[in-house]
Amino acid sequence: MPIVDYGSDIYGIDLFEEGRPFRSNAYVIKDRQIAVIDTGSSNSHEVLVEGLAQLGLGASDIDHLIITHVHLDHAGGAGQMMQKSVKALLHAHPTGARHLIDPSRLVKGARQVYGEEMNTLFGPLIPVNENRVIAQQDGGRLRLGRHTLTFYHTPGHAKHHMCIADDISQGIFSGDMVGIRYQPGYTGWDFPYGFPTTSPGDFDPDVMVASLNRLQMTLHPQRIFHTHFGMSEPADEAFDFSRRGVHYINELIKELPEPVTYQLIYQALSQIIGQDLRRLGHKVDTTDPLGVDLMLNSQGILVYIQKKAAGKL
Ligand SMILES: [Zn+2]
Repeated sequence: MPIVDYGSDIYGIDLFEEGRPFRSNAYVIKDRQIAVIDTGSSNSHEVLVEGLAQLGLGASDIDHLIITHVHLDHAGGAGQMMQKSVKALLHAHPTGARHLIDPSRLVKGARQVYGEEMNTLFGPLIPVNENRVIAQQDGGRLRLGRHTLTFYHTPGHAKHHMCIADDISQGIFSGDMVGIRYQPGYTGWDFPYGFPTTSPGDFDPDVMVASLNRLQMTLHPQRIFHTHFGMSEPADEAFDFSRRGVHYINELIKELPEPVTYQLIYQALSQIIGQDLRRLGHKVDTTDPLGVDLMLNSQGILVYIQKKAAGKL
């Protein structure tokens, strides 16, 4: 099980989400109290447990499970982990916390996005006892020992998203907020590539930029720990590619012909990513390695356009 040691007692476990390496990380902070950030889906549960074992930890050693947001590839496995991590508390955004206690709406929402493939992709969801769930307010803190974590509500990708700042590493555990860092091991390209993620439901480009600005300008972090995947250092690199991507998405939305369809968005999105890659000096002739996310991002953009047109934003 590949584990990356990021220093400051922070470790990344590759969860082999969707059966692929370099797709999703869980992060572990090994302090006097042990924290795990994002569990991955329930299909990743065994891999997470194995990874913890390699770090000399049993599930019952975990004190805090922290969920950046309740999309299934981040939080789907929280229920299983909480069953085994008998002393752990589960921390989430107040809106997300409700869904971890009663996952029925989460299942419904995910089924709308992924259809019947949902179970194969992410596995079953187990509810968590509400007495063990802590709804973290914006600015909430958690002291692990040496490390103190601060929670920030960061909408834009999802309304129930929060980022977690760590004082020791000067890092932010960014979930899906500060873009995705596509690693060569995932894309097959010989360079990392960054782009924001706009998964369906709550994407809002203006809100996303506001959250990016807030994190960068008020915290001045040194590094970003992406759930997908690994670390961006300096952190500004990730803020830059995220803002650049949102800018391209805004341009794309302006130029889409009516009536807007998913297909049109998908094509336009692969085109702008292709252009971005070439502008960055990379010679690639296909954006296919990003296929799954192109699909999700196109859905996210479509939902945003529809909501905006219906005056629902
Ligand atoms: Zn997400």
